Amino acid sequence: RSTIEVNGLRKRYGRTTALDGMSFTVGPGKVTGFVGPNGAGKSTTMRVVLGLDAADEGTALVSGRPYAALRRPMFHVGALLDAAAAQPSRTARNHLLWLAHSQGLGAGRVDEVIELVGLRSAARRRVGGFSLGMRQRLGIAAAMLGDPPVLMFDEPSNGLDPEGIVWMRGFLRSLAAEGRAVLVSSHLMSELQDTADHLVVVGRGRVVADTSVAGLIAAA
Ligand code: ADP
Ligand code: ADP
Repeated sequence: RSTIEVNGLRKRYGRTTALDGMSFTVGPGKVTGFVGPNGAGKSTTMRVVLGLDAADEGTALVSGRPYAALRRPMFHVGALLDAAAAQPSRTARNHLLWLAHSQGLGAGRVDEVIELVGLRSAARRRVGGFSLGMRQRLGIAAAMLGDPPVLMFDEPSNGLDPEGIVWMRGFLRSLAAEGRAVLVSSHLMSELQDTADHLVVVGRGRVVADTSVAGLIAAA
């Protein structure tokens, strides 16, 4: 079963408490919006789930296992954390080919993910000349290489133009329709209220509301 389970995460950076008992579950077949002001702990949570940062306390599981226990992680979970950090002199396609190759995937899959994120016309251009929105699409293409059932996107709409934002909404909905577990962060509720099925609202390193969007509308 495709899930992200975060339980009682605590994390401090010096005197700053980044996570203060963060707990929630992301289930399959829906988009879960991860909403809260800047500094609320969204990125830190995602980094801990991906094993890029260690928590002081608590656990984070991807489909029931710690990230470090996943065999070939890119086939289990894909993530966009910062807009793709690719070598500026590489073309988008070469960047993806290089990532794919290290995982035993070939050019066929690379061309599929390029198509998936709408980067076909830019695929042979150097990443150094890409706008933030194009780098976001490239990062999402990289996250999709392994066709993972669990996805985490940190502020994926940053830098997208209005057309890109409409595309992103449809893209996230299609991932959920395929049964994947999708966690998407934003500091703007308005960006997620029409896209997400479920909302995990956070502030100061912990969850302040955890609700289905249908429930929220019924309560209003
Ligand atoms: P969000 O993604 O919700 O904006 P973050 O997880 O980035 O929040 O940050 C949570 C808190 O942890 C903030 O106060 C931030 O300044 C702090 N923080 C995050 N990463 C670091 C780091 N590497 N070193 C020091 N403080 C950090
Ligand atoms: P290696 O095992 O050769 O170090 P990986 O591709 O497994 O290379 O990992 C490289 C870095 O990217 C690691 O820090 C890992 O935690 C991170 N990583 C691996 N898979 C993913 C993924 N699907 N999404 C985001 N980050 C990932």
